[in-house]
Amino acid sequence: MSELNRRHNYGLDLFLLSVDEGITGYRDDSLETVKRNEIQYGLPLKVVSYSKLYGWTMDEIVKLIGLKSSCTFCGVFRRQALDRGAALLKVDKLITGHNADDIAETVLLNILRGDIARLSRCTSIITGEDGPIPRCKPFKYTYEKEIVMYAYFKKLDYFSTECIYSPNAYRGFAREFIQDLERMRPRAILDIIKSGEDFRISTSTKMPKQGTCERCGYISSQKWCKACVLLEGLNRGLPKLGIGRSRGGSIANVTRIWNKRMEHRVYKASSVEVWTSEFSCSCINHCMQLNEGLLSDDRCNRWFGTAKRRALIRSSTLINHLCSLLYL
Ligand code: SF4
Repeated sequence: MSELNRRHNYGLDLFLLSVDEGITGYRDDSLETVKRNEIQYGLPLKVVSYSKLYGWTMDEIVKLIGLKSSCTFCGVFRRQALDRGAALLKVDKLITGHNADDIAETVLLNILRGDIARLSRCTSIITGEDGPIPRCKPFKYTYEKEIVMYAYFKKLDYFSTECIYSPNAYRGFAREFIQDLERMRPRAILDIIKSGEDFRISTSTKMPKQGTCERCGYISSQKWCKACVLLEGLNRGLPKLGIGRSRGGSIANVTRIWNKRMEHRVYKASSVEVWTSEFSCSCINHCMQLNEGLLSDDRCNRWFGTAKRRALIRSSTLINHLCSLLYL
């Protein structure tokens, strides 16, 4: 942005905004890079920390709740921290570094969670236009590897440290899945984004109404925003408060099946995924081809085994979702 601003005389006043989640061995390292960037690009830097905003660091939260839900807390708190930091800087736009890989993962995650409201806006290049500080995602169509290659060949000072809690992130499963899809079909990431953009929510679907949190005034569709609910749970020693969601219905079922698959996945053979769960297809690649009518039933038999098993595969809502996502 700094380079574009200089080259094309956009006349923008740019600032750097970083969130310190309080994750030792990850954020402390990357903050050092951002501090060097402040000098290299001559842009003022603002760091907002979880410890100051919420009174908790992520390390403390993980000690209390364990690794499983760490990203739920972190994601909710970061969204709000960025808005609070942007308000402190008195800026009128917030630019985030989400790339194409991130957006494709988010589309899949929102389908799996059945989060219609987020699904309808997660592919927008600008969100929150009706709020005080809209967010833009200029790298929406740029692959992560392109960004890394650009930074590498331009010899930019950047960090590539992975968060120490990321191996437990639910998002990691979607990332791994998309990487496998990409090996079979290099356009998979852009296809998923395109499919996300083309989703149309029925006008009869009841969408949550946006209001403000009674406690902190942040945007919320409930009485209290998610960050306040999570914080209340932490402060009262009930950290599980606000984590669960009970939407019921088929989407919850799909998520349960997906979780089951992930738990039962035993090995990979080239681009072919193999699972042991009785609900799983033995090869997602061939399942997709079958949906496209590219394989004969005989061939399918070889890959999928019994007719009963194939019936299970065909009835899997998740697989149908993913197949239609890819071939829309
Ligand atoms: Fe936070 Fe999870 Fe990302 Fe780590 S992987 S920074 S805990 S959201």
